[in-house]
Amino acid sequence: MGLIEHQFEDNFITGTVDGLINWARKSSLWPVTFGLACCAIEMMTTGSAHYDLDRMGVIFRASPRQSDLMIVAGTLTWKMASVLRRVYDQMPEPKYVISMGSCASCGGIFDTYSVVQGVDQVVPVDVYIPGCPPRPEALMYGIVKLQEKIEKQKYIRK
Ligand code: SF4
Repeated sequence: MGLIEHQFEDNFITGTVDGLINWARKSSLWPVTFGLACCAIEMMTTGSAHYDLDRMGVIFRASPRQSDLMIVAGTLTWKMASVLRRVYDQMPEPKYVISMGSCASCGGIFDTYSVVQGVDQVVPVDVYIPGCPPRPEALMYGIVKLQEKIEKQKYIRK
């Protein structure tokens, strides 16, 4: 960097393609509108005016084809698992998954034959959020953690 310093006029910035792509992606996470159980109420609350997810660039979309984030909020049953997977498959790449709450992450209190004991058995998970239910602040923290993960992605080989 030392060589190009002082070579340009003021107000000239440099960056990497990776940095630009990652900045754009982390600043416009669009979750698919998808809720399974009580955790979804907390997810909806997080999108309300009081918490205002829009200021973080997080805008819920009604179609998986316009979404790059799936927040699995609630208890996933095996009966519902194929539907969840189909919604995930309809999302374009790159896509991310947040497992919200104990039920989604490990089955929670429902240690039964009908409940999936962790959604990572059905879709790959990027961030797990503990709690029953996690508060909106916890979901926002999970989204920030996902943004930090996206920031570190590399596309251009060195
Ligand atoms: S973790 Fe708790 S609040 Fe969330 S879906 Fe399960 S039982 Fe409901």
